[in-house]
Amino acid sequence: MPFRASILTLYPEMFPGPLGISLAGEGLRKGLWSLDTHQIREHGIGRHRNVDDNPAGGGAGMVLRCDVLAAAIDAAVPTDDERPRLLMSPRGRPLQQRQVREWADGPGLVIVCGRFEGVDERVIEGRNLIEVSIGDYILSGGEMAALTLLDACVRLIPGVMGKEASGEEESFENGLLEYPHYTRPREWEGRGLPEALLSGDHARIAKWRREQAERITRERRPDLLSPSPAHLGPARDGKA
Ligand code: SAH
Repeated sequence: MPFRASILTLYPEMFPGPLGISLAGEGLRKGLWSLDTHQIREHGIGRHRNVDDNPAGGGAGMVLRCDVLAAAIDAAVPTDDERPRLLMSPRGRPLQQRQVREWADGPGLVIVCGRFEGVDERVIEGRNLIEVSIGDYILSGGEMAALTLLDACVRLIPGVMGKEASGEEESFENGLLEYPHYTRPREWEGRGLPEALLSGDHARIAKWRREQAERITRERRPDLLSPSPAHLGPARDGKA
């Protein structure tokens, strides 16, 4: 059964968006993965199909109602659906390549996109939503975050990227950032190529790349070399 993404959103027209072009889009048309969207507003309250209300306790902004969101989830996802249910949220566990790979290998994902100030906490608990963040900054809605997460997953699905899909040497796959790349021309604005890459000696090239990857990781992301507890263990329970 191919990877299936079900998106709950107030803006279904944002999908597949950028995932409808290039290799992800070809994969979608070939049926290597699939996408369905569900308009949360269809489960809104009253004639105006209201989905949000004032925060309990006061304060700025609006909050997505738990009853509306739960109804949307229940209508879109059968109870025996085994796919992880995610809520895009800046409070969530930071998305990491290891987790992306695990999800890409699975049956797919249900992704709830928040809007406004966020969603009523009770639906997160009541529907076992796993909160996932794509970084320490605030977006205006969960849709772009969902597209980012899906792009990361979809490119790993067999057949989507062809030869490049192995990705074994890419940044994060071995706990390191990637080594620098070079191509033609052999000389450009006075800059040549690293000598090791011209040697034709595969062992020497591999060693050079490894050293460069270690150097770049040390300089830019020393946290990857001595992971904090947040980086350890499977990222399944959604608790940071
Ligand atoms: N008031 C919230 C931010 C709400 S932003 C707070 O301070 O935490 C509105 C919606 O955008 C969120 O519900 C979430 O779905 C989405 N969103 C914003 N930033 C995000 C991020 N870094 N990662 C994932 N989703 C994000």
